[in-house]
Amino acid sequence: MNKEYRYEPVIGLEVHAQLLTNTKIFCGCSAKFGAAPNTNVCPVCLGHPGVLPVLNERVVEFAMKMGFAVNCSINQKSIIARKNYFYPDSPKGYQISQFELPVCENGHVIVSLKDKEPKKIRIKRIHIEEDAGKSVHDLPYGTGIDLNRCGTPLIEIVTEPDISSAEEAAAYMMKIRQLVQYLGICDGNMEEGSLRCDANVSIRPRGSETLGTKTEIKNMNSFRNVEKAILFEINRQHEILEDGGSIIQQTLLWDADAEEARPMRSKEEAHDYRYFPDPDLLPVIISDSWLSSVRESLPELPASYIDRFTNVFGLPVYDAEVLTQEKSIATYFDEVCKFTTDYKSASNWIMGEVMRILKEQKIEICSFPITAEALAELINLCQNNTISIKIAREVFGYMIVEKKTAGQIVKEKQLVQLSDEGAIRTIIAEILTKFPNELEELKSGKEKVFGFFVGQIMKETKGKANPQVVNTVLRAMVTEL
Ligand code: ADP
Ligand code: MG
Ligand code: ZN
Repeated sequence: MNKEYRYEPVIGLEVHAQLLTNTKIFCGCSAKFGAAPNTNVCPVCLGHPGVLPVLNERVVEFAMKMGFAVNCSINQKSIIARKNYFYPDSPKGYQISQFELPVCENGHVIVSLKDKEPKKIRIKRIHIEEDAGKSVHDLPYGTGIDLNRCGTPLIEIVTEPDISSAEEAAAYMMKIRQLVQYLGICDGNMEEGSLRCDANVSIRPRGSETLGTKTEIKNMNSFRNVEKAILFEINRQHEILEDGGSIIQQTLLWDADAEEARPMRSKEEAHDYRYFPDPDLLPVIISDSWLSSVRESLPELPASYIDRFTNVFGLPVYDAEVLTQEKSIATYFDEVCKFTTDYKSASNWIMGEVMRILKEQKIEICSFPITAEALAELINLCQNNTISIKIAREVFGYMIVEKKTAGQIVKEKQLVQLSDEGAIRTIIAEILTKFPNELEELKSGKEKVFGFFVGQIMKETKGKANPQVVNTVLRAMVTEL
């Protein structure tokens, strides 16, 4: 029997999202990325004795927002705890986090994979915590430590072990990135580490209810790597079990270049962190009014955009999903639709030409040279038959390079579509006489030659003839022959 059928993968993800607050979680230092090493630090985030941390309210607010977005219940009282472990980039010897009572619990998201039923993935908890600093290894004199990131605010989003494939894990990550970006609480950049993911992976005989021994993979900095690393680990575990071996609970590091996961440390005991409530920090109390004001301040979320795009603009669900993957694209589409009523064309242009350019030039829509209004103008020129779709693609190309409006380009390059029947008739008559052999074939009813003549006419008019008019007039002329 195929091993794919004998075993089923069980995956749980722990996702860390770096929050876009101005200051750190327990002090007033800037939380901005990219400053010179050890410049955004103070006695609090350096863990000097005698200092008192003060909780940044924005961090709780952002955690609440995420909680609402993934259907969690919000604990109006939660506890801040110390997680004790030694690591060189963590000067206090412990990390301030949450353990027993996190800000949010018991949520879920739905992920949809192509050709599969939508899948519900339960979220166990979302807690707030501080980030650690960074060891910088490739310095000429050895390893240095940059503590700028110490005390940068994070939320950790932990799923139940509900994910059953590498593909589903990547789709879940994309969903989380989409939500944090819409909420504006994290930039969602996996390459830069502002969205990080640890994957817990085990396999078990299909149909079994008990969980197998898990390993935890760290250090995947893209969706592709999340998927690859989990696949690698599922296969590795399969092979061990097939050979009659057993899985060792351990932490693995994903090496993206070698495309393999290697052991980092083994974990004999699951919990040796000696969590206890931080004596310097009071329980976090969320009042009814704070809770409801955060709920009311939530921005429009992807589900609502999809609803609007399908119901108000009449787009297919597929279009709506592609357009809402990134909030900036969704708002660009919204903006285009303020200036045109041809919504489906707007969607086609954005999903096709616009996204192609973004990919080619590796840019975001905010640096895309054509404004929403300018794209709408191009769409309208097509819709009212001033130019054909073929010419419109050409104009689009000019718009990107020349930074002029579609109207200007059409005028300057004399690209207005030729729709005048009389003029087209004259051109057709000339072309018919140019190709006497093909004309004979056309007369004898050969349909293929019809296309040949349409092509010649378009060539003669440099693509400017209105194809519909060309078709009708040529058809009429053929019957007159
Ligand atoms: P740990 O104490 O090792 O961090 P947790 O129970 O807190 O373990 O779970 C961490 C993550 O691992 C969660 O996302 C959870 O769903 C997942 N998980 C727990 N047990 C397993 C398992 N046997 N296989 C796969 N994932 C698991
Ligand atoms: Mg863990
Ligand atoms: Zn500080």
